[in-house]
Amino acid sequence: MLTQKALLAASRRPGMRRVVTGTPVTRRVVDRFVAGETLPDALAAVRALAADGIAVTLDHLGEDVTDRVEAIRGRDAYLALLECLAPLQLGRAAEVSVKLSAFGQALPVGGDDVALELVRPVVEAASAQGTTVTLDMEDSRTVDSTLAVLADLRRAHPGTGAVLQAMLHRTEDDARALAVPGSRVRLVKGAYREPASAAHQEKAAVDAAYARCLEVLVRGGGYPMAGTHDPALIARMLELVVETGRTPDSYEFQLLYGIRPGEQVRLARAGHTVRAYVPYGADWYGYFMRRLAERPANLQFFLRSLATKS
Ligand SMILES: Cc1cc2nc3c(=O)[nH]c(=O)nc-3n(C[C@H](O)[C@H](O)[C@H](O)COP(=O)(O)OP(=O)(O)OC[C@H]3O[C@@H](n4cnc5c(N)ncnc54)[C@H](O)[C@@H]3O)c2cc1C
Repeated sequence: MLTQKALLAASRRPGMRRVVTGTPVTRRVVDRFVAGETLPDALAAVRALAADGIAVTLDHLGEDVTDRVEAIRGRDAYLALLECLAPLQLGRAAEVSVKLSAFGQALPVGGDDVALELVRPVVEAASAQGTTVTLDMEDSRTVDSTLAVLADLRRAHPGTGAVLQAMLHRTEDDARALAVPGSRVRLVKGAYREPASAAHQEKAAVDAAYARCLEVLVRGGGYPMAGTHDPALIARMLELVVETGRTPDSYEFQLLYGIRPGEQVRLARAGHTVRAYVPYGADWYGYFMRRLAERPANLQFFLRSLATKS
């Protein structure tokens, strides 16, 4: 728990970023979680997953941008990505995930407006080719802003997806509000370091909250997306879809690229819609550190790879 907190704190420290990204051996470990640094790398991963019957949501890595020029570059990267996805004709089987902090949400003045202005063309481009955008959820201070941007985008593009983090105390209420027809909601446990005032701190409490929120979403009228690798929660989702008589086109499982790949294939072969979250790009530091924090074994693997190299 202590290690997890330290890693999540480090994920936002520029000094640590320089140390970790400057270590040549890090790359091999990063490759397990990130599809590559370039757009062709990402497209190769999309093709390989599609061959296994797995849909994708692509994330051009980047977050916490502090100036408008960088935010515009983020938008342009997504527009280029969508342009390259079009010829693959995967439709909804290839969508994109965006972090509003990469679109300027955290700018000191008018960040919400900048993020909305810059993300809108991405949502329009996705809709034009018959697919969708999901707004990733970042730390708890951004939830109200992200849900407000979502509500605005949904007026013209109702398929725009949201992410809710079960660890937050507020999430059961948010899940109820979003469990309505046409509403796509990915439920995750939550990957950010949060204070006790905002979030459950113990794994058992987070898992129980996830199960409650999942039930709200699956019994509700929207399109639930179970974003987890947790075998117990995947099993609970399977029970709930049977109980509610949902057909495979009315829910999906979502897992991260490189994590439990065998389970991804197994669920897809069993007839469920499965979507892998595929991150790519050079700015992988924050994403990578969150993956290390989630699992002590990942950290050991990383440290071992450093030790064997030196
Ligand atoms: C599709 C998708 C999108 C996501 N989007 C967001 C988002 O927008 N905002 C956000 O805050 N969080 C997001 N997350 C991350 C999420 O919040 C969790 O941090 C992450 O999924 C780990 O939780 P878990 O449900 O897998 O359960 P855990 O209890 O952490 O893990 C259950 C099991 O899964 C496997 N596993 C989990 N994590 C790892 C790992 N890093 N490496 C290797 N094995 C692992 C292990 O076998 C572990 O025992 C997303 C997760 C997914 C799957």
